[in-house]
Amino acid sequence: MAKILIPTALKQYAEGQEEVDLEAGTVDEALADLTGRYPGLKKHLYNESGALRNFVNIYLNDEDVRYLERGKTKLAADDSLSIIPAIAGGAPAQTGRRPLVEDGHTTLDATEIQRYSRHLLVPEIGLDGQKKLKASSVLMIGAGGLGSPLALYLAAAGVGRIGIVDFDVVDYSNLQRQVIHNTSSVGQPKLESARDRILEVNPGVQVDLYNTALSSENALEIFAPYDVIVDGTDNFPTRYLVNDACVLLGKPNVYGSIFRFDGQASVFWAQEGPCYRCLYPEPPPPGLVPSCAEGGVLGVLPGMIGIIQATETIKLLLGIGDTLVGRLLLYDALKMKFREMKLQKDPDCPVCGAHPTVTELIDYQEFCGIRPHAAEDDAWDITATELKQRLDAGEDLVLLDVREPHEWDIAHLEGATLIPVGQVQARAGELNTADDIVVYCKGGTRSARAVQELRSMGFRKLKNLKGGINAWSQDVDPSVPLY
Ligand code: ZN
Repeated sequence: MAKILIPTALKQYAEGQEEVDLEAGTVDEALADLTGRYPGLKKHLYNESGALRNFVNIYLNDEDVRYLERGKTKLAADDSLSIIPAIAGGAPAQTGRRPLVEDGHTTLDATEIQRYSRHLLVPEIGLDGQKKLKASSVLMIGAGGLGSPLALYLAAAGVGRIGIVDFDVVDYSNLQRQVIHNTSSVGQPKLESARDRILEVNPGVQVDLYNTALSSENALEIFAPYDVIVDGTDNFPTRYLVNDACVLLGKPNVYGSIFRFDGQASVFWAQEGPCYRCLYPEPPPPGLVPSCAEGGVLGVLPGMIGIIQATETIKLLLGIGDTLVGRLLLYDALKMKFREMKLQKDPDCPVCGAHPTVTELIDYQEFCGIRPHAAEDDAWDITATELKQRLDAGEDLVLLDVREPHEWDIAHLEGATLIPVGQVQARAGELNTADDIVVYCKGGTRSARAVQELRSMGFRKLKNLKGGINAWSQDVDPSVPLY
């Protein structure tokens, strides 16, 4: 019997199953069987015209079925199929590549020789390698969960120049995983907090701060002086922007992404192998894939993935070992398992293929289907203050909570009904279209998706609580804990 592995992000649409045994002769038959059993999965895997979605990749063991016989690929009894969706995550890797950096005329002084002695003792690094690290530069996109271990280890290892792009401020909810920041830095810009820690670890590092949101207007200019770009972002527009800018500039992009217990890592470098778009030509529609802010993440997970990114960065700078170019590493913290998928360079890739259609940076918000709030959408929103006024006025409102049961346990609004977002379609029969329904989640993203689903099913008297239960806590009732 063949089996199919369901990724964490989609488990909720498969009754929580992570592995399903199937009797199927081909990939198509297996997927038909799967979506027959779990109809909720269908729209996540297929588009309206019935084709497999572009941001979903199907692997037979470690091979992408696009490079086998796609849906017609035959299955043997002990085969396992994996669904690898893009998460808010060719040429085989070459060994003995040229190093990215020459040591130039750098020298190490006596304190540096002492500081880096454990590197100097490693034949693959040695004095020459350490001088290369000193002469090298790395740009980190984001000083959050992935950026924290990355920055600390790159600084400790003696990378001479570290650039950081971030515009966020340290928040209490960051401290569970963003170990570069301290409780005392809450409220401070992440850039400053990260810089202070880096200089404490290694005062010899030059730290460049870019207090800005990365955009199509500034990305090429910011990237240009750096040897390696490390992607620690948490959203699709920035991920595609980082990818395309790296392809256009010929720079390696060290990729990592995380969701709950699952992590992905790779090195996308169009000159040596595939890029992110070869893997995922198109982003998922907004709201379909939850971010860490919505879905949560195990605090140590970004530590693991960030350290893999740091390792790959140092190998690239030194030109040693086999990097993750052409491979996607998947990590499951719950099972403590690593798996590896081969990545191919797509000859028709829109940005790194033979005839690219993307030859300059584009509007990535639009590419990812995110538009400024349209007036029509606003009409579906209700603020926490407005909701409070309407409840106080005695209006008969049905409160629908679309979060998960463990979030409900943290806090919920009195009198609300719980239907997790993944079950809204299946359980819509429990709701009445005649009722005035206010849908809420933690921050307003999942509830917006639920409102859309219910609208498409004919519900019209719907409101989405803007900012979710956290807005309620901030604007109405501070006794409801923020999380
Ligand atoms: Zn590509």
